[in-house]
Amino acid sequence: MYVALYRKYRPIKFEDVISQNHITTTLKNEIKLDKIAHAYMFTGPRGTGKTTCAKIFSKAINCKNKEDGEPCCECEICRGIQDESILDITEMDGASNNSVSDVRILRDEANFVPTHCKYRVYIIDEVHMLSSSAFNALLKIMEEPPKYVVFILATTDIYKVPKTILSRCQRFDFKRIKPNEIMLKIKDIAEKEKIKITDEAAFKIALISQGSMRDAISIFDKCSIKDSEITKEILEEILGIVKKDYILSLHKAIKEKDKTKILEIIENIYYDGKNLEDVVEEILCFYREMLYFNILKEKSREFLEYYEYIDEIKNVEPFSFEEINLILEEILGCTEKIKNSNNQKLLLELEFLKIIDILNPSNFLNKNLNLNIKQKKEVKINETNPKEETKKNETLKVTSKEKKLLEKKENIKEIENILEKLLKIAKENDISIEEK
Ligand SMILES: [Zn+2]
Repeated sequence: MYVALYRKYRPIKFEDVISQNHITTTLKNEIKLDKIAHAYMFTGPRGTGKTTCAKIFSKAINCKNKEDGEPCCECEICRGIQDESILDITEMDGASNNSVSDVRILRDEANFVPTHCKYRVYIIDEVHMLSSSAFNALLKIMEEPPKYVVFILATTDIYKVPKTILSRCQRFDFKRIKPNEIMLKIKDIAEKEKIKITDEAAFKIALISQGSMRDAISIFDKCSIKDSEITKEILEEILGIVKKDYILSLHKAIKEKDKTKILEIIENIYYDGKNLEDVVEEILCFYREMLYFNILKEKSREFLEYYEYIDEIKNVEPFSFEEINLILEEILGCTEKIKNSNNQKLLLELEFLKIIDILNPSNFLNKNLNLNIKQKKEVKINETNPKEETKKNETLKVTSKEKKLLEKKENIKEIENILEKLLKIAKENDISIEEK
């Protein structure tokens, strides 16, 4: 049976855990001094080693041949915990076992002395998902635990855990893993698996996984094809990553205030099957780097933990500090909206058109509106209620270039929305379309 790579390469000793030395050193010391606490809270982003460390810790405190705080990984206890055949170690997912009865079962069981191990360990993952009555039941055992019971609670959302629980735990904060470290690990696994991968692709995986080693290894697993090298292009293809070219051309279009181009690019990205949320993330990343470059120039490489566009940013027409700020503010406001939107494409289109307007507030209405909407036939727009009139009397014409593009659109409603928005802006600024 195929074992997922992230399982296969999961650390089995503290020394194999990456980027969490501040935690593993303390835990090893506690084991060496035999100062085991009754409850631990492991918190931090996903994929940073919380449950892995919890497992290693439960082995180490029970191992018969522990050395320097590390489990031997060979004795029957270590092996039994590793293959999950020893029942003294219980791993529970707080997300799916979150009721009070789940915790009561655990509480009843905790009264029995462990059969094989010195300590009975309960690892509760995603503990913040427990219901409040479940937390209360848990608190009861944590207040007076049998001396052989150890709780290791893990969570990504520490602020959702009641203070009464937190105050009884020794807390450890796991850090996000840096891209360079993830990249090294990916290359190491690639070598062991005899899969070729370019440095560029390995680094890209590290960036996408945002500090989560588990995600990085899973992505690598998904993209590895025998007998062919993983390149950045293959990665982009398999994962549907938004290509750099798209981001750079979007920037160019914003810089040139070319609304038609904006719509064209988004159209292409959309039909290329890319995730539009990723477009927002990428463009955010691009302008963030531009902001750094604006302030720090070449030094931005030292300040940015990782960067992807600095080389390109040096060669594109830049925006001023104020302009970048406005753009970033606008895009940041869009990141949440797009996740919940039923019409992401339209939202993205409006967002970018808006950015152009924001960057050019004085010229927009006089120049751009004229360019975008030309009246060929008589348009009667009721100044007091343009929306209603627009629906009744939609005879607006657009320039030939714009028209072509708009005709391509399947969704007539989208066009209506864009026009409606333009009309609304016109109304807000007291500009009469009839006059123009
Ligand atoms: Zn052992």
